[in-house]
Amino acid sequence: MNATDAPKPPRRLAVKTARPERRLIGIPVSPGIAIGPVFGAHEAPTVVARHKIQAADTQAETARLDTAIAQSRKQLLKLRARLGNLPEDSQAEIAPLLDAYLQMIGPSRLVRGARRRIGETLVSAETAVMDETDAITQAIMSMPADDDAAGRKRRGDEVREVGRRLVRNLTHAPFRSFSGLPEGAVLVCESLRPADAALLDPSRLAGVATDEGGSDGHTAIMLRALGVPSVLGVAGLGQAARPGETVVIDGVAGTVVVNPTVETLAAARRAVTAFARVQQKLALLRRLPAVTTDRETVELQANLEIPAELPLIAQAGAAGIGLLRSEFLFMNRETLPNEDEQTETYRSVIEAMGGDPVTIRVLDWGGEKDIEALQSEGVVPEVTDENPALGLRGIRLLLRETDLFETQLAAILRACHAGPTRVLLPMVTTVAEVRQAREIYDRVARRLRRRGERLPEALPPLGIMIETPGAALSADALALEADFFAIGTNDLTMYTLAVDRGESDVASLYDPLHPAVLRLVQFATEAALRMRMPVSVCGEMAANPKLIPLLLGLGLRSFSMNASAVPRVKQAVRATSMSECVRFARKVMEQTDPAIIREMVMA
Ligand code: PEP
Ligand code: MG
Repeated sequence: MNATDAPKPPRRLAVKTARPERRLIGIPVSPGIAIGPVFGAHEAPTVVARHKIQAADTQAETARLDTAIAQSRKQLLKLRARLGNLPEDSQAEIAPLLDAYLQMIGPSRLVRGARRRIGETLVSAETAVMDETDAITQAIMSMPADDDAAGRKRRGDEVREVGRRLVRNLTHAPFRSFSGLPEGAVLVCESLRPADAALLDPSRLAGVATDEGGSDGHTAIMLRALGVPSVLGVAGLGQAARPGETVVIDGVAGTVVVNPTVETLAAARRAVTAFARVQQKLALLRRLPAVTTDRETVELQANLEIPAELPLIAQAGAAGIGLLRSEFLFMNRETLPNEDEQTETYRSVIEAMGGDPVTIRVLDWGGEKDIEALQSEGVVPEVTDENPALGLRGIRLLLRETDLFETQLAAILRACHAGPTRVLLPMVTTVAEVRQAREIYDRVARRLRRRGERLPEALPPLGIMIETPGAALSADALALEADFFAIGTNDLTMYTLAVDRGESDVASLYDPLHPAVLRLVQFATEAALRMRMPVSVCGEMAANPKLIPLLLGLGLRSFSMNASAVPRVKQAVRATSMSECVRFARKVMEQTDPAIIREMVMA
């Protein structure tokens, strides 16, 4: 739900509550103001089927438990380290809780007991953890009644929370279930995977806030796509906000206010109205062309993460889809989509665009995008690389798993009658990858034609993402192989600066305006322009109206972004002249200090 139709918050809640207002700061990732009760999805019980094992498997099962313990420790230490961002009184409240959790995954009764159960009762690691958790909490609750009842309950809750964390890490289960999400609630949780975000229903949800996450990670992108006001990377949030408490999320300022006072609530309501007014004004731009004051036309397209966005794309006035992230087709399901199913999906999207072009990017698996069906069907291993962003990602997987690649290419080719279509390859780093991909593409087309399928004489253009420094710096060579470039500034920034795009701890270092990133964008753009080859930017940089004059000045004329950003970017295009942009870009590119560049661009 966006700010315009967020339900009026229950005023009584804030007035009645005994807890004081608490203001936290995070990374604003999706604009809008949300007011609503906290839905603590991390509170959902983890249901695990009891599972027996063979005696021969006890060692492997214990090793699984040890891995989950190590993973849990890492998560908790990370949360602990980030408490420094909080005011002192909040730190004092939250730190002991995390310390208690950390102690429990050390050489504690819980860990010893779970290990023993695996060997003695021959049960799986998750069953052992659940059984031991139950035994400990029962023992705590049956302590003498003259004991401190509140303290016993608190200790029991702590044990259960640690047990849940271990089980979640053992089962790789999403951190929560959204089934009980009440209408108008604000989802508050530790972290949200892109696949979890894809399950959210924006018409029921007021906003999202999480402890973890960065501005341009895939979860952030998904939330922007859904149009849900969101703030990620809010240190201490999970401990500061309790289920049912009222919370105000400001997806522009990046603030989260728990238990707002009456005054804060009133100000938040005014902000909701102001935001809605701005949105209404922007909507008027829908039918106006994206031209600069000196009459240069600019192409503004939308990125599509999930089919639910299609109506938004039409409303935003985007001229087609510049990046269809096909991962959505593979997420949150047990089996992989077959050729027919994929054909239908692509066809319906292309048809919905009514003659505007659609660029379909083939599956970009890897990094933070985990797709269970690929694991359950044995295409990728259960345990991924230590460093997944540098592993078997994007085109690398497709060139190894050619069945997967061929199925998707065949589906796109069968659907391309429905309208102008292009095919885009993710995570390219070498010329050989493009050549190999094109051979497979041609082979699939030949096979379809033999099968009697009527394909267009000229196949849809085959382009590549420029999202690694390797690709950007060999753009001149790649331009000889590819039909078009789409510059993915999200990964390009991450790989150039060695900063994880989805990681809150290093979010301040993630800077697409770093001269190294800008020089790579410039080099790749010029390589494409020399070849008279289409080139666009489809990373989050394209969605920032402040960055548009610089990108135009570098020679770019095509941008693809989350649909809701199109009106603001169009406004920026219509307010600028190309000659000014060229002068401005020249000045910016003379700078070497990212801070000065930021000042110039954001002025
Ligand atoms: C990018 O990396 O900029 C990009 C558009 O691809 P994705 O965000 O899906 O990784
Ligand atoms: Mg990318």
